[in-house]
Amino acid sequence: MSFTIAIIGRPNVGKSTLFNRLVGQKLALVDDMPGVTRDRREGEAKLGDLQFTIIDTAGLDEGPKGSLTARMQEQTETAIALADALFFVIDARAGLTPADRAFADFARRADKPVLLLANKSEGKHGELGAMESYALGLGDPIQISAEHGEGMGELYDALRGLV
Ligand code: GDP
Ligand code: MG
Repeated sequence: MSFTIAIIGRPNVGKSTLFNRLVGQKLALVDDMPGVTRDRREGEAKLGDLQFTIIDTAGLDEGPKGSLTARMQEQTETAIALADALFFVIDARAGLTPADRAFADFARRADKPVLLLANKSEGKHGELGAMESYALGLGDPIQISAEHGEGMGELYDALRGLV
């Protein structure tokens, strides 16, 4: 069965790092396509025996007070529409920000399965942020470290439960 996951979240939470880890290579080459403005990257991801298409959403600047700019909303909506399920990523070290809450509204309205990923959780630094993230109403956070590859087993188990 083939399915598509969109990685959603405010800038700098580690979406692209997670994308690169799951795809296993850096796919920046799509940016070189002439005449194409690329707001998203797609790749074929592997996690254990699961294979799926994954969409990374680009780092766009936040509006005032963490509000979403129109372009960011549009990009997020497009990625969500293409996806069967969402990875909603937060920076567990930073704790919740207004931008996280704005993106979470999107994820909730999408009415698609969401996995809440509390990234940057290596070395137990993310405990507080993970606890805070329960308030988003997106279920139990899965603590991961995209950079260090931690929590991939838990992510696999959760994804298995969805698809
Ligand atoms: P994006 O804007 O959401 O795509 O975030 P990036 O993937 O570009 O990462 C933003 C910053 O967070 C970079 O400096 C990454 O090296 C860092 N980062 C990503 N994942 C982790 C992680 O698991 N742990 C830590 N400590 N830093 C991370
Ligand atoms: Mg990025």
